[in-house]
Amino acid sequence: MAGILDGKISVITGAGSGIGRATAKIFAREGASLVLADIIEEGGQETLQMVKELGAAAIFVKTDVSKAQEVDALVAKVVETYGQLDCAFNNAGIGGKSVLTHECSEEDWNRVLAVNLTGVWLCMKAEITQMLKQGKGAIVNTSSIMGLTGAIRVPAYTAAKHGVAGITKAAALEYARHGIRINAVCPAPIYTPLLVKAFEKRPDIEERYVRSEPMKRIGQPEEVGEAVAWLCSDRASYMTGLPMPVDGGYMAQ
Ligand code: NAD
Repeated sequence: MAGILDGKISVITGAGSGIGRATAKIFAREGASLVLADIIEEGGQETLQMVKELGAAAIFVKTDVSKAQEVDALVAKVVETYGQLDCAFNNAGIGGKSVLTHECSEEDWNRVLAVNLTGVWLCMKAEITQMLKQGKGAIVNTSSIMGLTGAIRVPAYTAAKHGVAGITKAAALEYARHGIRINAVCPAPIYTPLLVKAFEKRPDIEERYVRSEPMKRIGQPEEVGEAVAWLCSDRASYMTGLPMPVDGGYMAQ
């Protein structure tokens, strides 16, 4: 049976771990050809092996999404290898320090904004430039429920993720007439190394997260990946400009 992403040339950032890796495997299952990007070579190579075992054509390009030159080189490599770019999942991100707003250092603020917001914008800039030449394309950015509502002790992360939701809407309007759809996923807490690291520092958070979730559980990375695959596919042809919660009902409360 044909996959929903059959023949789609797709780039995924932050593909070496967590949500990016799970999504890469779902894209492979759904027939996409992949360009995997991550700042960490080892994780990226591991995911590359996994998607190849699933039968996908794929390459890995070591990329720091906060560096314009590296992002431009990534998209150039996609086009050089496959001739086009159909789908992009701009997902690379980092957590910030657990601090109140007045305690956040300029260094932490700049680092989180550089990866989580500027990184997404730089990727969109290069991807949209290519997609305009083709007259089509689909982009999904990773925001967060913290891009839709406030949360304490994560000022830079919350600001960056609201920024991702904002640029997703703005760009969706700009390119809707050019055949380019742009959406975002806004996950609630998802079991990935990013979250496990946070739980190690603050064990009380895990229980608090579970209690605050309508389904009384934390999400799995595959549950985000399935939403991303659908949003990137032609089945979501009338969807654009949506920061979509993937949150077990959290935002409905
Ligand atoms: P993760 O740490 O498992 O994976 C993130 C990946 O991004 C890693 O492989 C890391 O090497 C890569 N990365 C970090 N900085 C990079 C850079 N500058 N350039 C390229 N790659 C870089 O985390 P995850 O939970 O899978 O997070 C993926 C995305 O989902 C992030 O944007 C995160 O903010 C978002 N998110 C996560 C959760 C959660 O609870 N896990 C919830 C909402 C949103």
